[in-house]
Amino acid sequence: MDWPESATVQWGRSGIVLSATKKSYETAFFEAFPNDGSAGFIRGEGKTLEEAEGAAFGSWQKYRKCIEAGGHYWGRLRERKAKNAKPYLNGGCFCRGCGSFQTAMKPIVRLGKWRDPLTELDLDSISSGYAGTNDQYGRTLFLKGRAAGINIPPPPNLNGLPKDKIREISAMYQIGCEKEVKDFWVENRERILSKSQTTGGIGLLLYDICIRSLDNLVSRNTQNNFPT
Ligand SMILES: [Zn+2]
Repeated sequence: MDWPESATVQWGRSGIVLSATKKSYETAFFEAFPNDGSAGFIRGEGKTLEEAEGAAFGSWQKYRKCIEAGGHYWGRLRERKAKNAKPYLNGGCFCRGCGSFQTAMKPIVRLGKWRDPLTELDLDSISSGYAGTNDQYGRTLFLKGRAAGINIPPPPNLNGLPKDKIREISAMYQIGCEKEVKDFWVENRERILSKSQTTGGIGLLLYDICIRSLDNLVSRNTQNNFPT
């Protein structure tokens, strides 16, 4: 079938679907990650592989039509009026029009978590680009770092981009973060070390590794190409 250029797909002639509430069953399945903004992930099932792909392809066509008709309308619930439905907090969203599922919103983070003191591990993670990750940890790191005065670049929007472009932008983003953490570390190293609450054991080992890699940032010469 005529999947878009950007799609990656995987399939199996027989897979077991385990269910806690319904009977488990065996099925052929076809899964696609279209990377074209239509959906994050599509799965089709059927008696044969052809049937499974047909089901997945049908969903994809439905999602495309929704985009062409004006675009998805995202919500955190599968159905707005569903009883006892819990919204997804991780940023996963359903389109109210066509049912497409995709990470379309920022994750919801516990209020005030970003006020916890910034640790050496946080700094090391931010310099590795984690503050641009669209999950709860990344989101919290971003808020914590910004609250502490680090000018972390805003996370890039990678939705729908081809893989090589995502790699390229992520690498540039990480270098931008590295540069900001480096500046911060130069100015605040002594203050942060004096407030450190590590007592020993595995925490101390991790603490040592983080400090060493932060010190390495300073001794290494990094170039910042990320647009801020
Ligand atoms: Zn839609």
